[in-house]
Parts: sequence; C-alpha cells; structure tokens
Amino acid sequence: MLADKNTKKTGLETLGEFGLIKHLTKNIITHQSTTLKGIGDDAAILSMEEGKTVISTDLLVEGVHFDLSYMPLKHLGYKAVVVNLSDIYAMNALATQITVSLAVSNRFPLEALEELYSGVQLAAETYGVDLIGGDTTSSNKGMLLSITAIGIAKEEAICYRNGAKPNDLLVVSGDLGGAYLGLQVLEREKQVFKVNPNNQPDLSPYSYIIERQLKPEARKDIGSLLQQLEVKPSSMIDISDGLSSEILHLCAQSNVGCKLFEDKIPLDPTVIQTCEEFKLDSTTVALNGGEDYELLFTIDQEDYPKIKANPNLTVIGHMTEPSEGAHLVTRANTQIALQAQGWNALQ
Ligand code: ADP
Ligand code: MG
Repeated sequence: MLADKNTKKTGLETLGEFGLIKHLTKNIITHQSTTLKGIGDDAAILSMEEGKTVISTDLLVEGVHFDLSYMPLKHLGYKAVVVNLSDIYAMNALATQITVSLAVSNRFPLEALEELYSGVQLAAETYGVDLIGGDTTSSNKGMLLSITAIGIAKEEAICYRNGAKPNDLLVVSGDLGGAYLGLQVLEREKQVFKVNPNNQPDLSPYSYIIERQLKPEARKDIGSLLQQLEVKPSSMIDISDGLSSEILHLCAQSNVGCKLFEDKIPLDPTVIQTCEEFKLDSTTVALNGGEDYELLFTIDQEDYPKIKANPNLTVIGHMTEPSEGAHLVTRANTQIALQAQGWNALQ
C-alpha cells in the first residue's frame, strides 16, 4: 500500500488544461433526473422542481487535510466525495450532484490524476450522485481539492442543528473512534517504512480501522431508515471532528445541555484492542478522534421504542436544560464537562 506501484508517468504539460479536463471526465455520465446539463458548457444546469436545495462545500489541502505518503490517490478522491455527502445526509437530505475542483502542481503525472478521479467516480456511482462540473488549475506546490455537494430535501424533513429540546434522546449511528486509530496505525507504519522500506507490515488485524480512515462511508442509509421507522430527528449533525465537539455544537445551537454516558458509546472490538496496544483511552479516542462520519441526532423520548432494537443506532445520552451544561457521565458515575478538543488534543 505504501509503495508507488504505478510506474507510467505522463507529464500534464503534454495534455494542457483542456486536454486534461477532457481526459479525466470522458467517462462521466449523469443519471439524476434533476441534472439537465453536466460537464461541458460554461455552467451546469439543474432543475430542482420539488423541495429545497441543499449545498455544502469542502476544501482539502495537501499536508493539512491529507498526506499522500499513506493516502492512495484513489482513496483520497473517494473520501473527499464521501465527506461532502455526509454533510448533505446530516441535513436529512438526499445528495444528487457534486462538482470537483482541483489545483495540482506538475509533480503529479496524468496517471496520478486518473487514480484520483477513479476514486471520485467510484464514490459518485456508489452514492448515486452526478459529477456535473468543476475547475482545474495549476498550483505552485501540492494539491488542493474542493468538492461541492448538492442535494434535495422536503422542507419538513430537513434536520438542523438547532432543534434539540431538553429530555430528547441523543443517538449515534455506527461506532466511533475507528478512523482516528486507523490513522495512528498508518502513521506508525510510515515511520517503520522510512527506516526499512522492504518491511511488509501485516495490517490485516487493523483492516476495519484502516478502512474507516482511508475509505470512510457516509450514512446515506440512515435518512431512509429513519423515514421507515417514522422518526424525525429534532436535530442532526455528522461526526467529522469528534463526538465531543459535535455534541457541543448541538447544545450551543439548540440551547440545551447534555448528559452523555460513557458506557453507552459504541466501540468496535478492533478499536478497543488497538487502544490497548497504543495505550490510549478508548473514550478519549471516541470523544476527540473525529473523521468517523457517523450521524449524531436527537429524537423525542416517545420515539424510543421505534429505534431501540435497531443495530445501526445507539442511544448514548439525553439532552437537559442548558443550565446543567454538557457532561460525560463516566463508568464510575462522575461527571466531566465535555470539551471541544477535536483532533489536536490527541496528538
Ligand atoms: P471555464 O474556463 O469556463 O472555467 P473550464 O474549461 O474550466 O471552463 O471547464 C469546462 C467544463 O469542464 C465545465 O463544464 C467544467 O465544469 C468542467 N470541469 C472543469 N474542471 C473539472 C474537474 N476537475 N472535474 C469535473 N469537471 C470539470
Ligand atoms: Mg474553469
């Protein structure tokens, strides 16, 4: 995974900007009925006849948001799309289109960009969104990648961050902490590789958490699941920065407090084992690790019977009056104020 297997290197200057765009986008076809015009004109045209249009953008910078020494370009393309779609799903909307804008230095050969685009296209196909345009330009140093995701939602279905009420239950999809730990494993292997490039590490025990880091998935399924269960979250957010910081966003925007129960936080067995190996506290990792792209939402207590048996969803706490603050209730039954440490607290 760490070695560069792709040996053919075609300089970008041989194609020029238009040739490059044409080459990278030659296989793109659109499927959404709302896409009237995709790539190829001065602008794309959408026809959103029903509902509200939902838009979200992310900008990723090499060396800041991704490190190409252990992030294969195909994975980067995939992840960049998924991260954006996650924001659309966090509004309880359906993602329909994306645009991809790219700045690259001439250190990247055409084959590298083909890899990147194969990841972008795979994500677009997997999630059923149309790639409808973007921009391509040169950069003096490194790569910048910006993706905009577009979606649609019925007005009454949209979930904002500000709708939580005291006594609402706090629910999370999937499990937490894996993506951060996957990164720890990859960073450790990178250091080993620097010393001994012939070392072939056995990463199979870590495959779940490495996949969580390199090939995360967005929870497209949760919106339809909630619809089936006839549950409308009172607030929702996706977990990009860590559980702690996302809970605090819901609390601040909804003007509520929160009690989060340590023993309820869902953890995969690989996360628990790897935490032991790295001498990290699994609760700290779940609270501050980030990049899990699970959905965090609140529901009315009355809806508890509808979700309680679902293996995709875990109730991890409840909202309170704002005066009570936001706390983690530990296994020892002590209360610790939640802090928005994010990622850096673990470094
Ligand atoms: P302009 O000069 O008007 O910005 P471009 O030549 O950059 O137009 O783009 C031509 C077409 O190719 C447009 O439809 C644009 O959206 C699309 N496009 C440009 N770069 C990309 C990219 N990186 N990915 C997808 N589509 C792109
Ligand atoms: Mg352009």
